[in-house]
Amino acid sequence: MSFQIVAPRMMLVGGGTVAQTAEVLAKFGLTRPLVVTDPFMVKSGMVNRVLEPLAKAGITASVFSDTIPEPTDTIVVAGVAVLRAGNYDCMIGFGGGSPIDTAKAMAILATGDKPMSAYKVPFAADHAAMPVIAIPTTAGTGSEATRFTVITDAIRDEKMLIAGLGALPLAAIVDYELTFSVPKRTTADTGVDAFSHALEAYVSRRATPFSDANALAAMDLIGANLRKAYHEPDNAAAREAMMLGASLAGIAFTNASVALVHGMSRPIGAHFHVPHGLSNAMLLPAVTRFGLAAGLARYATAARRSGFALPTDSDEIAAEKLADGLAALNTELSVPTPAGFGIDPTIWNAKLDLMADQALASGSPANNPRIPDKAEIIALYRAVWSANA
Ligand code: NAD
Repeated sequence: MSFQIVAPRMMLVGGGTVAQTAEVLAKFGLTRPLVVTDPFMVKSGMVNRVLEPLAKAGITASVFSDTIPEPTDTIVVAGVAVLRAGNYDCMIGFGGGSPIDTAKAMAILATGDKPMSAYKVPFAADHAAMPVIAIPTTAGTGSEATRFTVITDAIRDEKMLIAGLGALPLAAIVDYELTFSVPKRTTADTGVDAFSHALEAYVSRRATPFSDANALAAMDLIGANLRKAYHEPDNAAAREAMMLGASLAGIAFTNASVALVHGMSRPIGAHFHVPHGLSNAMLLPAVTRFGLAAGLARYATAARRSGFALPTDSDEIAAEKLADGLAALNTELSVPTPAGFGIDPTIWNAKLDLMADQALASGSPANNPRIPDKAEIIALYRAVWSANA
């Protein structure tokens, strides 16, 4: 068996490590960063957690803070204009997955004069105009460690998956202390996102021994700590475990790819502006159930490692407990159905055909243990519409 491993050149992990941002830049001889972040980080003063250590080292960083949740190509284009107007040698993506993905997409788009859509899969976006140092403030996307960026085509309402080495950060600083302020809803959504990365990487047809090791380690951490982080936001041990779990899950899925949950989740996000982790959560129990028989042993192992099943349970029972446990987790984390989220049923039904096409076109469903056809994807969308299935 041969396989490829990709990961950032360095990752600095631990409480308080954001204070070492200047040292990380110095290792690579970088001195002129553009910090890419969101308006909340500026308004709340959180961005100073990265600006202050830079200032102490004599680095005055500029800030681009116009990023939006679930970033669009329009925002990336605006960011590239800022990038080109300055004399930068790197970007620091500071925030949740949205600012980090924006910085990564800016680095790719700035290599030429094509539209963002020219870089979506199956194109291999291996080139970037400059390096990105990623500093996540949510424990979820793992974007700090992935070769992906997800950008919405604002005109076509399509969440485009852009994949390649150009999207892989040069370095990441993974400081869980930045996550204490994450609101409850976002803690839940990002935590389920991280779990779905680990699970999908583990059951993916493209899994390798390397991605398996990272996925299982992530499931250990996330399974034992997601509920704690949600119910006890100040629980430092739980926040620390979730942050590490999310990064490990990122390393897992960047090397194994994600599968049907993500393939179906992106169209929900694009058409109905549902946060990424939440749309994953809406789908996770039903899509897991759909694949159980085809990936029984792996789903069973995942169930045991993440605490949904007992070590002594048979594969059949453990796998069933995983699907049931994920549905119970959604209830505990107050995850709404698409109907409960307030999506208009007429628009939902009218878009199912297009959403299924977009899910299939992303390539992710083909990594699933059970590969669905279009009709099965539509049936799954219908099944989750108003039921936590
Ligand atoms: P986000 O970045 O959109 O942030 C959600 C909200 O949480 C924002 O309002 C933000 O200001 C706030 N927030 C972030 N950190 C906070 C903190 N420490 N305290 C208080 N509030 C905070 O959310 P996300 O889930 O981290 O990222 C979602 C994006 O990541 C989506 O666009 C998704 O498609 C993408 N994604 C990318 C990858 C990848 O590999 N590149 C993987 C999964 C998801």
